[in-house]
Amino acid sequence: MSETIYDIFVIGGGINGCGIARDAVGRGFSVFLAEMDDLASGTSSRATKLIHGGLRYLEHYEFRLVREALKEREVLWAAAPHIIWPLRFVLPHHKGLRPSWLLRLGLFLYDNIGGRKLLPATKDLDLQTDPIGRTLKPGYGKAFEYSDCWVDDARLVALNARDAVDKGARIHTRTKVISAKRVGSHWDIETENTETGRTETIAAKMLVNAAGPWVDTVLDQSVHAHEKHAVRLVKGSHIVVKKLYDDPRCFFFQNNDGRIFFAIPYEDDFTLIGTTDEDYFGDPRDVAISESETDYLCAAASEYFATPITRDQIVWSYSGVRPLYDDGASKAQEATRDYVLKRSGGNSEAALLNVIGGKLTTYRRLAESALEHIEAVLGKRGEKWTADAHLPGGDFPVGAFAHEVEKLGTDYPFLSGPEAKRFIRRYGTRAWTILDGAKSTGDLGQHFGAGLYAAEVRYLMENEWAHTPEDVLWRRTKRGLAGAEIDQEALAAFMAEDQAKTTVAL
Ligand code: FAD
Repeated sequence: MSETIYDIFVIGGGINGCGIARDAVGRGFSVFLAEMDDLASGTSSRATKLIHGGLRYLEHYEFRLVREALKEREVLWAAAPHIIWPLRFVLPHHKGLRPSWLLRLGLFLYDNIGGRKLLPATKDLDLQTDPIGRTLKPGYGKAFEYSDCWVDDARLVALNARDAVDKGARIHTRTKVISAKRVGSHWDIETENTETGRTETIAAKMLVNAAGPWVDTVLDQSVHAHEKHAVRLVKGSHIVVKKLYDDPRCFFFQNNDGRIFFAIPYEDDFTLIGTTDEDYFGDPRDVAISESETDYLCAAASEYFATPITRDQIVWSYSGVRPLYDDGASKAQEATRDYVLKRSGGNSEAALLNVIGGKLTTYRRLAESALEHIEAVLGKRGEKWTADAHLPGGDFPVGAFAHEVEKLGTDYPFLSGPEAKRFIRRYGTRAWTILDGAKSTGDLGQHFGAGLYAAEVRYLMENEWAHTPEDVLWRRTKRGLAGAEIDQEALAAFMAEDQAKTTVAL
């Protein structure tokens, strides 16, 4: 057992666990985080990937959540202008569904309750004359165009983890918490490395259960706590099809069952369509899109697009499980998206904080709320700091993205325009670290296809906990969408060999 007693032990390397770890270590707490699989391998890589207020939550009177989330849009954009960027959404009026005065009212609130400074306001649109209307069936006329932001969800997690470790936290992936026992005023937490089977016991004063959809499983099986925290698991699925239209704007569509869904330009060549909302009762690891969800999304999109969306157009799909706080709502889509933090112990007994619910969008504010609980138990160490801090690679102004791409292209003239853009989108100013003086692609090492070279893979292994081709292809990058262009076998062999040599700075 290690001699150190950490202030905080965090279970779960999703956005909430990594966000809390980063905030806490930046205030001076010692932090250990264990993630049983890869960072963001749970819900945090399976979202629609919007940094948004959540227009539809206004219908459920979730004004606190919407206001907080709207305010976070510009805070997070400034913190990570490489992986977060503004989007415009086109919301067509559909006869027989929500009336246009209601949409207008909702968007008026959306524009005005959340401290919007840089994002452009809502405007009216005529789909009969605007070019984007041509992609839809004839008959759609009135529409609204409003702002929200996009985020690369899995990279948001990795960058929070990276920043936490840069500030002194320890983060172990492939490390499962097997048991956590209160020993007087501290916890003994037994972990197991899921690759080697090696076990280790870590001591900490406070335990933060940020296990997302596994919050109750951790309480039951690891903490053996009697408390249970009414987590409602709600599955959501997306389909990815080849690009449906050539316009950077997204669609916000209403379906005739009252639900809404999005169609979003995705990774240059694709369109992302989702999501569904269904109660889920299985193991979150096994979640997958069902036949009926696929049919639902194809039918819903076909109601709007001029060319019907069929199953054979689907190139990829993914599903995730929202760990929502069970507020007793009858329908899955109506369950609150707000977060709830529950603390127990704290005097003579070691303290436990359970994190339930939340959105990617509100992770930073959730972390600040978690820190209020942590400070109530362990005492205050530092001030709030994350509202004005960049995430790794995001240290350039929000309007300077194109300038960064141009600078990278000038410094590395062998990169094509799209390649330079891809590097800045993924890594921001850290792209210079990866390219490290290379004079040609030959200097970047082995090529695995679709512009993925050894230099990038090695950077991800050494700095971002990538262990397997899946970590690289589907979470740190989305090169997996290049399909057969990637030599997966060569990538796996390279990573296995390099793993043995890599002393990771983590
Ligand atoms: P997770 O990301 O699941 O992290 C929990 C982690 O704990 C997992 O990685 C798991 O492996 C680990 N873990 C569990 N048990 C153990 C153990 N015993 N030991 C060690 N580790 C353990 N939010 C938005 O803001 N915008 C959106 O557009 C959006 N769209 C969404 C669409 C869908 C379909 C879904 C499902 C969610 C969406 N969300 C969105 C919500 C957002 O994705 C989640 O709220 C968020 O990712 C939850 O993060 P988390 O850290 O709580 O959970």
